[in-house]
Amino acid sequence: MRILVLGGTSEARALAAALVDRGVDVVSSLAGRVTRPRLPVGEVRIGGYGGVEGLRDYLREGALTHVVDATHPFATTMTAHAVAAGAAEGVPVIRLARPGWSEHPDASSWHWVEDYAQARTRVESLGRRPFVTTGRQTLGHFAAWRDHRVLVRVVEPPSDPLPPRWTTVVDRGPYAVEEERRLLAGHGVDVLVTKDSGGTYTAAKLTAAAHVAVPVVVVARPAAPAGLHETPTVQGTLDALGL
Ligand code: NAP
Repeated sequence: MRILVLGGTSEARALAAALVDRGVDVVSSLAGRVTRPRLPVGEVRIGGYGGVEGLRDYLREGALTHVVDATHPFATTMTAHAVAAGAAEGVPVIRLARPGWSEHPDASSWHWVEDYAQARTRVESLGRRPFVTTGRQTLGHFAAWRDHRVLVRVVEPPSDPLPPRWTTVVDRGPYAVEEERRLLAGHGVDVLVTKDSGGTYTAAKLTAAAHVAVPVVVVARPAAPAGLHETPTVQGTLDALGL
């Protein structure tokens, strides 16, 4: 058994640790987007494969027996590539994806939207000073807010300069409710826009927003590929692997 864990998430790191603990041969894979990534234990490789064909070569040449796609719920390209490459090479693919925030106690009060274009118009109807936490790669969708006072939080600084009226916070959590409440209040935020990442690292902002009556716009998760074996937990993944 040799397992490729497609990572970049806390769940992927937890899975790598559990596999290393059990003496399983595992290699964790990161995209290489973050300058100082939190590294999983065990063997790690960094960088893309060059599409489905490159991943197929990697699976074949490395004699991988299983792939666990534990990438972020919004990393849809990598998931699609894993499914395609696994099917072509006869390597089973298991999806480890943390639950979304739809069961959060405040979820019914949020403004759920399907995509970033909808998020933009909904935010515009709700406030003038947004807090954007949808990720560096999504900021282009909000370029029309050039002259607004926008608070942006990203893990990695954007490669292109952001508009001068925007304030950028570079941070990656985990966050506490009180610090999030202070951040919202300190910047006069009147609407929060995020995506349904799920998990605990970044959930405090949702509770903080409720405390200070800031409306929340949430981009819903993209659908997972049909037929993919999906589990929300590390234990579920180990069970699926027969470990
Ligand atoms: P994506 O759009 O689904 O993937 C774009 C390309 O990046 C893939 O085709 C692949 O390049 C490469 N790639 C992605 N994940 C990889 C991995 N784990 N190992 C090796 N190559 C990988 O991905 P993304 O949304 O940019 O996310 C990139 C990474 O950041 C993922 O690992 C994800 O888990 C993590 N992350 C993403 C988000 C988010 O909001 N999207 C949030 C937190 C963490 P090739 O085609 O060349 O193989």
